[in-house]
Amino acid sequence: MPGGQKYRLRARSDREVVREIEPGVRYLDGDSGEELKVVGAVLPLAPSPSDLPYAVENLRLCGCSLEQLAQKDLNDCPHCGRRLPAVEG
Ligand SMILES: [Zn+2]
Repeated sequence: MPGGQKYRLRARSDREVVREIEPGVRYLDGDSGEELKVVGAVLPLAPSPSDLPYAVENLRLCGCSLEQLAQKDLNDCPHCGRRLPAVEG
């Protein structure tokens, strides 16, 4: 099952963490103890059929004439509904 909305959290030292958050909860960096501030929501916005952040390393072309990008953990293209071929490697 795909999870909930993920957010990008950043510490003063520019360390970044991507995780789901709960309202009103303070998050601290596990290594440095610095407080993490939410800097943005990670695409795709929940609910999404994919659990992968919408980042170039997680995307591939769906192969149809629309030439749209689809996350690698999807079985079907979210744009045209076509079955995606298995990911190599
Ligand atoms: Zn497609």
